[in-house]
Amino acid sequence: MRQSHLFTKTRKEAPKDEVAKNADLLIRAGFIHKEMAGVYSYLPLGLRVMNKIVGIIREEMNAIGGQELALTALQDRAVWEKTNRWSDAVVDNWFKTQLKNGTDLGLGFTHEEPLTALMTEYIRSYRDLPVYAYQFQTKFRNEARAKSGIMRGREFLMKDLYSFSLDEKAHAAFYEKAKQAYVNVFRRVGLGDTTYVTFASGGSFSKYSHEFQTVTAAGEDVIYVDEKKGIAVNKEVMTDEVLADLGLSRDSLVEKKAVEVGNIFSLGTRFSDALGLSYLDETGAKRPVVMGSYGIGPGRVMGTIVETLSDEKGIVWPESVAPFQVHVVSVAGKDGAPQRAAETLYNRLVSSGIEVLYDDRDLRAGEKFADADLIGIPLRVIVSDKSLEKGGYEIKDRRTGTTSVLAEKELLSRLGL
Ligand code: ATP
Ligand code: MG
Repeated sequence: MRQSHLFTKTRKEAPKDEVAKNADLLIRAGFIHKEMAGVYSYLPLGLRVMNKIVGIIREEMNAIGGQELALTALQDRAVWEKTNRWSDAVVDNWFKTQLKNGTDLGLGFTHEEPLTALMTEYIRSYRDLPVYAYQFQTKFRNEARAKSGIMRGREFLMKDLYSFSLDEKAHAAFYEKAKQAYVNVFRRVGLGDTTYVTFASGGSFSKYSHEFQTVTAAGEDVIYVDEKKGIAVNKEVMTDEVLADLGLSRDSLVEKKAVEVGNIFSLGTRFSDALGLSYLDETGAKRPVVMGSYGIGPGRVMGTIVETLSDEKGIVWPESVAPFQVHVVSVAGKDGAPQRAAETLYNRLVSSGIEVLYDDRDLRAGEKFADADLIGIPLRVIVSDKSLEKGGYEIKDRRTGTTSVLAEKELLSRLGL
């Protein structure tokens, strides 16, 4: 992509009411646009990052047998009444609307109910199980506070997977696989070193649920970490009883602020009982399906990456989620030689399948470099009279700031070509 064609421009200031670092940087760098508090549009650069995160999650969900589908945002009141989750007194963050004839509808904040109801049409016998179904779908939540940028949207993308298993034992085995898949996701998006699996409240059906909590000052949660054991406990379940159960001692725990980037939950038969999802086992006896739910917010993950990996100059994307792999920047020089060399290099890289942002704009080098620092593509290739004299391209690593001059052949081999 030629930067001269990119309709977004970097800017010096984010909207005055924006208090979150992630949104401030992402708005200034042209990744997102703020529509109103807690409501953000994704612009071309932001959508590329979002799609990379989604792609990683999709691979990990497919690897554990997930089947992707897409459920609706509009929700039928009757289905939610069956589980007692329609009432605003029970669920305080519903967005609700009405048809012209006055029929109530909700905008889905999660999808246990409609998917369980849907599965009653497909799951009849033990032969139909297990089923692992997931989606990337826009959720609506009337969040009381929306001060954390894209980490807490009122409209946001969620990957939600739901598991339907024969019994508790089969469920427990899948739950462990899903936990490992989540560990893989957070490692692959660059949050492996800062993300803990934490014990959280399990609701009425299981002792614990597990959250994936990334340590950051921008987090709204508090966790207690045993750094030696690599285990953490959420504040809301920190009791002497739980610590004894987990073999932890209060003295070895460190308090940290963190953000919940993922959550996996055993649901038992709560939803299958309420919505009539059962199957006939091998003896012909009727049994309820055992369920679990598994959520990740790709937008919250993107915001968390910005919060934890940026520096004073801007964003620092891990390679796996960067909007482009390489940022080629030409610096005006004698007789347009750097521009010509940059054009040739750009075409060469693009035709080899490398994702390149090419800063072909007629601007001062300083402005181009400041923009490149803000946008945060991991590898910068500067083409200038100076680099050409030295026989190639100046390579700058965004994270470490280290530079080196590489000949074309060396650059191509560094990019795996
Ligand atoms: P929180 O306690 O932070 O409000 P939650 O426990 O209500 O989150 P879940 O219902 O577990 O969230 O949703 C699954 C995942 O979806 C979360 O782990 C998080 O990654 C993401 N998520 C939840 N709420 C939001 C939001 N408002 N904006 C962006 N992502 C969100
Ligand atoms: Mg949660």
